[in-house]
Amino acid sequence: MNRYFDHNATTPMSGIAKRAWLEATERHWHNPSSLYREAGFAKQKLEEARERLAALLGCDEAERIVFTSGATESNNALFASLTRTLPPGAVVAISAIEHPSVREAARFWFRDRVITIPVDEHGVVQVADVTAAIRRHEPALVSVMAASNESGALQRWREIAVVCREAGTLFHCDAAQWIGKMPCTGGREGFPLATWGRAERTEGVEESLGMCDIVTGSAHKFGGPKGCGFLLLPWREDTPLFFLRGGPQENDRRAGTENYPAIEGMVCALEEAQSRLGAAARLQTAHRDEFERAMRAAFPGLRIISEEAARLWNTSLLVMPRHENLKWLTRLTRRGFAISTGSACSSGKEGSSAVVRALGASEEELRRVVRVSCGPDHAPEDWHALAEAFVEAGRELDAGGRG
Ligand code: PLP
Repeated sequence: MNRYFDHNATTPMSGIAKRAWLEATERHWHNPSSLYREAGFAKQKLEEARERLAALLGCDEAERIVFTSGATESNNALFASLTRTLPPGAVVAISAIEHPSVREAARFWFRDRVITIPVDEHGVVQVADVTAAIRRHEPALVSVMAASNESGALQRWREIAVVCREAGTLFHCDAAQWIGKMPCTGGREGFPLATWGRAERTEGVEESLGMCDIVTGSAHKFGGPKGCGFLLLPWREDTPLFFLRGGPQENDRRAGTENYPAIEGMVCALEEAQSRLGAAARLQTAHRDEFERAMRAAFPGLRIISEEAARLWNTSLLVMPRHENLKWLTRLTRRGFAISTGSACSSGKEGSSAVVRALGASEEELRRVVRVSCGPDHAPEDWHALAEAFVEAGRELDAGGRG
């Protein structure tokens, strides 16, 4: 039985990624910058991995990809780097539900020059609000995530990318939760769910993550190794973003010996995830919806965040009708289940869901938020067992059990 329901926090490494990592570690461990033959092979493999990743993201220029240690580094590096390249006084606009690695990095580097774009009652950023923010504040950059790590709500990044392009504003999309769960390229046809949101197809625009100026990704969210990710950057002379000095690696943008084995593992994991996501989406949406029905029946007053919005197929963000989230977590852990209180980075701090807060919840409600997020292989029995465990935990908590 699979009791791990915290895939939005991290995923186990896939078998394919592990084997690819091991082989790269054994055969191509040389420094890609060195000048002998073996190093040349490592460099070649590294550049092939960059090309493969660019193709997966729908990006024509592989040079736009800078490999990093993960999404937190990518997001921090972006805002730090922007303060050096944008004119003094430049403003940035971020959505109200961004991950702390966007929110806190933006605030740290831009201080009071950060505009917050609100979400609607479903936890979705409205394109009209982005347009209004651009008109009113003329931000140099807009940052809206692709899918919420907390509620799973899919954001309208394609339309926002177009709006930003027309306004001459840079668009950054933190796609750490989207990549590996949703298609990164192509139209909406061929994908079995109506999960593309209410957005109309944008005439003449190739719909891929490559259409965003800047994209953040992280390997461990889709079966790749931890400590590996990337940032897709604009390849433009006028945005000379760089992160680390000290060597010519990554086209002079991030110095330091590249972690080719992890990068190979990441790209293999994504190729695998992409090939499976249609089936995973179809099956897991059905299981997740059944779980939510069972939960609603067992817990009158339960609130399911972003229920009405198009959501990631693996995520369910619940506001329990009673008892604090840490009590639910403790009870479920004892039964072998791993779930979370909103976002991994904030679990331990009760009630810190940015999404539920943005929806106007009280502090007390915030303390009742739990998040369940599955992987591509969860069976209906796993979901039933999880609902059962909630029911048992609820009984114990209602009876006044400690812990
Ligand atoms: N951005 C989003 C949307 C995330 O969900 C996460 C992880 O939860 C991060 C950034 C940080 O990712 P990493 O662990 O790769 O630094």
